[in-house]
Formats: sequence, C-alpha cells, structure tokens
Amino acid sequence: MIGLSSAAPQGGCSRAGCREAATWRVDWRNPRIHAEDRVKTWLACDEHVEFLRDFLASRSFPVRVSAFETTDAAAATPRVGDGTTGGDGA
Ligand SMILES: [Zn+2]
Repeated sequence: MIGLSSAAPQGGCSRAGCREAATWRVDWRNPRIHAEDRVKTWLACDEHVEFLRDFLASRSFPVRVSAFETTDAAAATPRVGDGTTGGDGA
C-alpha cells in the first residue's frame, strides 16, 4: 500500500520499495481533506509515474504530472515534452 505521509520530496521515487531517482513529480490534492491551495507532491521514476498517477486519478483526485528537475545532479537534463506521450490519458 502506498503511504500517504506528508514527508517532503527527497529526490527518490515515492513508490513503496522503489529506490530509483525521480524524474517526474506528481502534484495532487485530496479535495475532501485539502484546501484549494494545499497540494501534495510525490516523486516518481519513469517506471512508476504512470502507476502513481493512476492511483490518484482512480480516486478522482486532481493530479498533475510534470518533469522533476533535480537540483543536486549537475548532469541531469530536464526532459522536454515532445507531445508524443499522450497527455493525461483521460
Ligand atoms: Zn519507482
């Protein structure tokens, strides 16, 4: 089960048991308990970004996926959307 803790993003994938570096950030909100401006952020690797997004989307939470720009990896190159990955999949 995915923990819904409020731990701050630390640069690794938020999927339980995954130790990959995050390349995506998943910003989401639970409308039932969060105010309009309260947005939580999960981080995800390439493999799990879809899983985490779907996990939230299946609960009808507002969710937004965007590239996670690391600040501690000098060689990291932000991915620029090329329009081939299919939008939000709705
Ligand atoms: Zn992962």
